[in-house]
Amino acid sequence: MKNIITIDGPAGSGKSTLAKELAEHLGFKYLNTGAMYRALTLLVLQKNIDPDNEDLCEKIASKMAFEIQGKGISSILFINGKEVPTEIKTEIVDKNVSFVSKHVGVRSVMAQKQRDLGLKGNIVVEGRDAGTKIFPDAESKIFVTASIEERARRRYEEYKKKGVLGVNLEKTKDNMKKRDDIDSNRKHSPLTRAKNSIVIDTTDMTKEEQLNKTIEIISRKDIL
Ligand code: C5P
Repeated sequence: MKNIITIDGPAGSGKSTLAKELAEHLGFKYLNTGAMYRALTLLVLQKNIDPDNEDLCEKIASKMAFEIQGKGISSILFINGKEVPTEIKTEIVDKNVSFVSKHVGVRSVMAQKQRDLGLKGNIVVEGRDAGTKIFPDAESKIFVTASIEERARRRYEEYKKKGVLGVNLEKTKDNMKKRDDIDSNRKHSPLTRAKNSIVIDTTDMTKEEQLNKTIEIISRKDIL
């Protein structure tokens, strides 16, 4: 496997923007593994399945077929032939996704699909366990983080821009903390930095600075 870059980190750390821009810079594909778990969660909720029901969640996951079309910021994730729906980025999905994604059966099905998508290399993979579990042999691993205050502020601004009703900064921060807690303390592939990853704290960094720093880190490897 050649040229796989993993970008892991908690919610709101800036990893999506960074991963997309890096993929654009390199002409690589971009895989958002969080979007895959979100799409699964949306289906689970639409089918009125309890997110705690491991068997049914795994069954739904195993029936999902994923494909990435395009490259860089134009990479689009398709699920069963359809573009990933915008509803995956809603408060209800935010609240339930960690419960669906903590099941070991769900994780092993999804990890295999993620490996299949990255098999050809030349890809930036974003998530929680991309560098630890999905692609432990990736050439470059970045772990992106930021203070909880800054991460909540960014997510709240996103909600406001989209006109999402009924959210405020405190509620956003509380939900984010809950999700961090479940993602970091779950038994199977928790959010944790890979030993050989480089940490970037984006709290006081502009997007441009984050991208430049990442390019500098990966250019030390034989990847560019
Ligand atoms: O990255 P994003 O915040 O969109 O991810 C949504 C959720 O999907 C995370 O909170 C986590 O529960 C789950 N996830 C995961 N493993 C990944 C990516 C996301 O468990 N590799």
